[in-house]
Amino acid sequence: MREETNDKVKSTISILKDLISFSIIGGESNLSIARYITGILKENDIEYYEVRDTAENKMSIHCRIGPEVDGGIILSGHMDVVPIDAQPWTKPGFSLTQIGDKLYGRGTSDMKGFLACCLAIIPHFKRTVLKKPIYLAFSYDEEVGCLATSELLQSVKSKYKEKPRFAIIGEPTSMQTVNAEKGAAFFKTTVFSSAAHSSEVRKSVSAIEEATYLVQWLLAKMDGFIEQRNFDERFKPPHTTLHIGTIKGGSSVNIVADKCEFEWDVRNVPSDAVEDILGSFEAFCKKRIDQKQEEFPDFNINTSAQFSIVPGLDTSKNSEIVKLVNSFSGNTSINAVSFASEAGYFSQSGFETVVCGPGSMEQGHRADEYIEVGQLRSCIVFLEKIADWSKTDNKVKKNYEKV
Ligand SMILES: [Zn+2]
Repeated sequence: MREETNDKVKSTISILKDLISFSIIGGESNLSIARYITGILKENDIEYYEVRDTAENKMSIHCRIGPEVDGGIILSGHMDVVPIDAQPWTKPGFSLTQIGDKLYGRGTSDMKGFLACCLAIIPHFKRTVLKKPIYLAFSYDEEVGCLATSELLQSVKSKYKEKPRFAIIGEPTSMQTVNAEKGAAFFKTTVFSSAAHSSEVRKSVSAIEEATYLVQWLLAKMDGFIEQRNFDERFKPPHTTLHIGTIKGGSSVNIVADKCEFEWDVRNVPSDAVEDILGSFEAFCKKRIDQKQEEFPDFNINTSAQFSIVPGLDTSKNSEIVKLVNSFSGNTSINAVSFASEAGYFSQSGFETVVCGPGSMEQGHRADEYIEVGQLRSCIVFLEKIADWSKTDNKVKKNYEKV
């Protein structure tokens, strides 16, 4: 058994080497890496589905291994990575470098290590007489706002007659079970006004000045969460955060600015709805517009969502998936993380979902990102346990046979 596991780890590293060489950043066409993956599925005689974007230059992939019965597990990950530009890399970003137990390259932890494990274990899944199905669901454009997740999930729900019950998202958690994530939402607010000479400052509204009031409102909103101790202690920090990432405005020191825009994000704990925060911000903006627009007709404020709102994750610690995943990994802890992933979408779609994968977010998105071979080995053992679980009889089926 151990030798067999070693072989699987070797084949994982060889697949990971190939996956790292596809330098596909979130937002770019991912057809080359997707075709590499479908090549492996074809070699293993697995029927799969492609979910294309409207421009036909990106695609998600999903497939089922095992019987057409309810109660299976979806293993999911994304194929895109974040850029390496402007980071002090000392190793090549897009070719795998092994030094001792560490494998370096962009995406080793986040999250091609998990994809490589899933692809390397396929022959084992195929050899096993699975009684519950195992699905693979791989997306693109996760790193730029989970743009493909909803369509991938729609396709998963429509292509199979049976209903998968569980989902494991293999983001790097050092193989620990994560049942809760903050949500995330990204906005751009633009203040419009009309330009004037700076000596005539009250003849127009400075878009920059107005933007500072709006920024102050957002920061005060976060302070309010802290003052009211609106805390969910599972997270660090334990409250919803609001953050201003960029601000741009004005054209010259002696011109009243006619435009100012800023980008901001919300990372919300499950009990705070992004929609409520946005709603009260919009109400404040409307008040400002109403106060000024009569005298200054060009004055306006517009806020738009940059991507769709990424839902948080809040799977009960008593749910079946938490018990199962802990039994597969041998870990007992249940964790919360402050980053958002595709897990919230899977949960919203009705699957019991947790995040659990090899590698660590301490390395993800950083220079000289790496994964330890030991993490890949733990993930392979984890996937072998999933195959063992799938071999066992399905209670639903037994009851059905009795009838
Ligand atoms: Zn990721």
